Amino acid sequence: MNRAIVWFRQDLRLHDNEAITEALKFADEVLYVYIFEDTFLKSKSRFGFQRTEKHRLKFIIESVADLRENLRASNADLIVRCGNAEDELFKIAARYKSAKIFCNRESTHDEILIQDKLEKRLWTIGQEIHYVRGKMLYYTQDLPFPISHTPDSFKAYRKEVEKIVPVRKPLETPLDFKYQSDHIDAGRMPELSDYGHDAALKLPYSAYPFKGGETEGRKRMEYFLRQSNLMATYSESRLGLSGSDYSTKLSAYLAQGCISPKYFYHQITDYETIHGESKSTYELKLDLLWRDYLRLIAKKYKTMIFYKNCLKSAEKSITNYDTTAIINWTNGNTGESYIDAIMKELNATGFISYKCRQLAAAFFIYELKQNWQTGAEYFESRLIDYDVCSNWVNWNYIAGLGIQRIESKGLNVGQLAQKYDPDSRYLDCWNHPGSLKKFHPGMLEGK
Ligand SMILES: Cc1cc2nc3c(=O)[nH]c(=O)nc-3n(C[C@H](O)[C@H](O)[C@H](O)COP(=O)(O)OP(=O)(O)OC[C@H]3O[C@@H](n4cnc5c(N)ncnc54)[C@H](O)[C@@H]3O)c2cc1C
Repeated sequence: MNRAIVWFRQDLRLHDNEAITEALKFADEVLYVYIFEDTFLKSKSRFGFQRTEKHRLKFIIESVADLRENLRASNADLIVRCGNAEDELFKIAARYKSAKIFCNRESTHDEILIQDKLEKRLWTIGQEIHYVRGKMLYYTQDLPFPISHTPDSFKAYRKEVEKIVPVRKPLETPLDFKYQSDHIDAGRMPELSDYGHDAALKLPYSAYPFKGGETEGRKRMEYFLRQSNLMATYSESRLGLSGSDYSTKLSAYLAQGCISPKYFYHQITDYETIHGESKSTYELKLDLLWRDYLRLIAKKYKTMIFYKNCLKSAEKSITNYDTTAIINWTNGNTGESYIDAIMKELNATGFISYKCRQLAAAFFIYELKQNWQTGAEYFESRLIDYDVCSNWVNWNYIAGLGIQRIESKGLNVGQLAQKYDPDSRYLDCWNHPGSLKKFHPGMLEGK
């Protein structure tokens, strides 16, 4: 009789989940576990920011609760613990007498440390980790180059994969989870207050009114692709600033794995079979490809993406640390009205648009002349959709220290105002919220 544990990490879903599929192939009885990891939830960054602020924590709690509910609806359950995988999962594995633990292989520094420490302890009781994939569109074995040869230009990468490598079909959600708990206590779901946060504020004008979890992620995708057909106008609207509907708002679901990128990609393809291919569907697929590409770059360059000089060891990056300038930036108190609005939105909701991320980062580096790593850590702390590769590699680019440079001429506050906020709706929303209802009643309806 084989027993296995599925350790959910950033794959908080039942659909297209290779860890579940492989565990079910291997074992007769399976236990499902999630650990609220102290490394990310209780510690501070080098520059002193809480590593996970409350909006993301709330999203994670909601996603795990949804996963538990969905497992319970399938006659299974989710065992929940708070602490470190190395201790908590080890204790469960020892008690359950599993042979293997199935989980996603993470490839960034802290995540690797966590899985390595656990693996070493599991060896002491004759158990091992079986790693699977699930965070990318592509399987690295399907790519026409080894990771170490990933092209340093996105254009070259795109040419090599886009039309040539098919995105595999998502795996089915199993019907029988072969759940057997062996009287292991399911554990209590933590609350925000366990981590010292009060309840997250609900803002009526937040562009991010969404709840975490696979169920909500699927609903949002359904709304975007079918109910509202926002897909049709994605190409024109994707760089907007105000409301919920200018872009998919699926990044946090992708970051926590509530939605699988393969599943999302094939949903867009299904949409194309009905509505035809368009600039919008192409650009959305390209954005998913870009997300994958940042992952490959992070795998190729490993910890260098966090270094002060990043991939440009010969260049000198800015190393200033002016506490007042940094605090003013984080609080939305720089005196530059758009940057202040952006930072207030980030603090209040955990979400800002792509353009706003670029501008806030460029302002931090080029106007305030501060060390980009501090800014990246602040985004890590605050973003609801924080993802190691997407955040750090995008910061690398803006700092001009990655493999590609984002042209700073495109990062211009005046242009943002003119092009994306001609009626100052965004500005008023965050800098003068009191005036919002009076001047912009439409804000509540999204776009
Ligand atoms: C400095 C900086 C930091 C960022 N940090 C993160 C982060 O921590 N997590 C994160 O998911 N994205 C990050 N991004 C990328 C991008 O801003 C967000 O993915 C996007 O704004 C999320 O909104 P959406 O889901 O509505 O995106 P949409 O415009 O609807 O795009 C669809 C999906 O494509 C992917 N995508 C689109 N653009 C990018 C991009 N430039 N880089 C990577 N993936 C992309 C995302 O998964 C997104 O959900 C960052 C960008 C910058 C400039």
